[in-house]
Amino acid sequence: MKEQWGTDLMKMERILPFAKSILKKAVQPGDIAVDATLGNGHDTVFLAELVGETGKVFGFDVQMEAIRSSEERLQQNKLTERVTLFHAGHEQLSLMIPSEWQGKITGAIFNLGYLPGSDKTIFTRPETTIAAIEQLLEWMAPEGIIVLVIYHGHEQGAVERDSLLEYCQQLDQKRAHVLQYQFINQQNNPPFIVAIERR
Ligand code: SAM
Repeated sequence: MKEQWGTDLMKMERILPFAKSILKKAVQPGDIAVDATLGNGHDTVFLAELVGETGKVFGFDVQMEAIRSSEERLQQNKLTERVTLFHAGHEQLSLMIPSEWQGKITGAIFNLGYLPGSDKTIFTRPETTIAAIEQLLEWMAPEGIIVLVIYHGHEQGAVERDSLLEYCQQLDQKRAHVLQYQFINQQNNPPFIVAIERR
């Protein structure tokens, strides 16, 4: 994950390091994790390191280019054996992940928007993101955490942000704890995080 916003010193954790910190808390060696938006596979490598040799990561992307790029990155890091990549939308999660893993997923990340340097007409959409979150809430272990990194600087990003915030705010507090982590005085709409912990 590459942090692009601000290079000055700061004690408070920036957005992408914060995403990693929560995932580190949620995902232990031997666990099952999901990268819902593979892109170039940076998050997949991070999750594969967290689950260790005995764990497993499932990755999704609708672009073949993302599957190839992630595969290459995993090979470079010698992590392919603990990762299964699906050329499919994350909304198909419960169809694609074998049912033996139901109830065992402890962490998932959605890095939303479009893949930088790639086809800008292919981007994540609130309907499919929400469908995948709903499935994850059924498939996760208690205390499993879903991290959404929301990029709202582009037009569709703002639409996605509004739909996701509306959905997340109405999630039953008996079902999940929902956190928003955001710098609120920065210019150019930097990304922010919504984290959902299953109860
Ligand atoms: N985390 C990635 C990385 O480390 O490079 C960046 C992810 S990029 C911002 C968003 C990705 O979501 C794109 O590769 C895009 O193809 C993918 N995407 C869009 N709709 C999707 C869907 N329904 N299911 C899975 N991936 C999707």
